[in-house]
Amino acid sequence: MAKKKSKREFVWLECVECRQRNYRTSVSVAEGTPKLKLNKFCKKERKHTVHKIRRK
Ligand SMILES: [Zn+2]
Repeated sequence: MAKKKSKREFVWLECVECRQRNYRTSVSVAEGTPKLKLNKFCKKERKHTVHKIRRK
């Protein structure tokens, strides 16, 4: 029997201020991609900024 697959998709976490893609993560797309906004550290600006999910 085949293993149960979880539908996961790799996405980027993009800084909304400088548009630098700082993080790559995977999210479940079973019920659509959640439009999350996360406070993450931006390496480029060297401060915490809002990052949003960006699907490829
Ligand atoms: Zn930034």
